[in-house]
Amino acid sequence: MIKYKLICKKCKKDFDSWFASSNEFEKLKRKKLLTCISCNSAKVEKNLMAPKVINSNLSNNNQEEIQKFKDVKKVVKNYQNFIKQNFDYVGNNFAYEARSIHYDNKKKVKGIYGTASKSDLKELKEEGIETQILPWIEDKSN
Ligand SMILES: [Zn+2]
Repeated sequence: MIKYKLICKKCKKDFDSWFASSNEFEKLKRKKLLTCISCNSAKVEKNLMAPKVINSNLSNNNQEEIQKFKDVKKVVKNYQNFIKQNFDYVGNNFAYEARSIHYDNKKKVKGIYGTASKSDLKELKEEGIETQILPWIEDKSN
């Protein structure tokens, strides 16, 4: 069973309704068997709520939050330094370089890092090339 919040486009009544599955909801809707409990209109839609963003604490700019961010930043920076020292930067050629290592058995002493689009990463994964996504902070201040 699945519960949906529904809203009537006609009288703006919102109400909850249970369905056996999401398919059942679509089926009833298509057959116009889904009607408003108040005005009987078939113009009933799923009432999609906007996702809530939990960042109210951040706007307070309290010390604890700032410190937390600084701590995370420090960890990421350390990680970045490690990668910069131990991996070759290939920039936007990441997908190309990753493939050449994978297919040509190119012997590289170092791993590589660089930037790639989401679709590049998806393709690489489909080809069996494992990649790791890292948080990266571009910091020009030091
Ligand atoms: Zn209604």
